[in-house]
Amino acid sequence: MYPVKENLLKVKQSLHEGIELVAVSKFHPKEYIEEAYAAGQRIFGESREQELKQKHQELPQDIKWHFIGHLQTNKVKYIVPYVSMIEAVDSIRLLREIEKQAAKVERVIDVLLELHIANEDTKSGMTLDECRDLLSESEWKSMSHIRIRGIMMMASNVDDENQIRQEFITAANFFDEIKAKYFADNGEFSVRSYGMSGDYMIAQECRSTMVRIGTTIFGPRVY
Ligand SMILES: *Cc1c(COP(=O)(O)O)cnc(C)c1O
Repeated sequence: MYPVKENLLKVKQSLHEGIELVAVSKFHPKEYIEEAYAAGQRIFGESREQELKQKHQELPQDIKWHFIGHLQTNKVKYIVPYVSMIEAVDSIRLLREIEKQAAKVERVIDVLLELHIANEDTKSGMTLDECRDLLSESEWKSMSHIRIRGIMMMASNVDDENQIRQEFITAANFFDEIKAKYFADNGEFSVRSYGMSGDYMIAQECRSTMVRIGTTIFGPRVY
């Protein structure tokens, strides 16, 4: 068995104080999650609705599930009854659907706005201007079943640490911009979710508050 517990503890030791760890368990069996859970981990990240549903049913109910992948609007209704945070909101359409489905089950869902900063076509998320537009159209303010908690992003998948650092700094500065403009009095708008296995040490130097780490804890994914 993969040394999940040892890896988890090592990762936790390397995190700055106050940084939240999302253990990204997508494509890994539930036994791995159980081992991390036994070592105290409670926040897990998944990116597929079916897989998340099955794991949610089989695993302890106090796990906080973060949906970290691209979420199709037609899948929202399946995860809203139990998900703790939806990290990758990239359109007003998706926000509307989360609001609608959350209202039905009388829940308030934490969400993050996903930013596309990386210099790659493959990464999803909103450009900074798209995100500015979403916020300046005030529709989101009337959504009482959604709590916008902050931003999330992925850096480019490159070796150049300076580029990665620049992208994280861009994200942190953008957070400050929209915090000042829309969330100045809102203490709940406080999350900067960036940093994965390959770059989380850089991310923490660039004011990340939440890292999402899979491979370093659970090993390579078998797709
Ligand atoms: C898979 C995934 C991660 C974890 O990546 P690792 O390199 O395995 O740590 C983090 N964030 C998102 C959005 C992911 O899809």
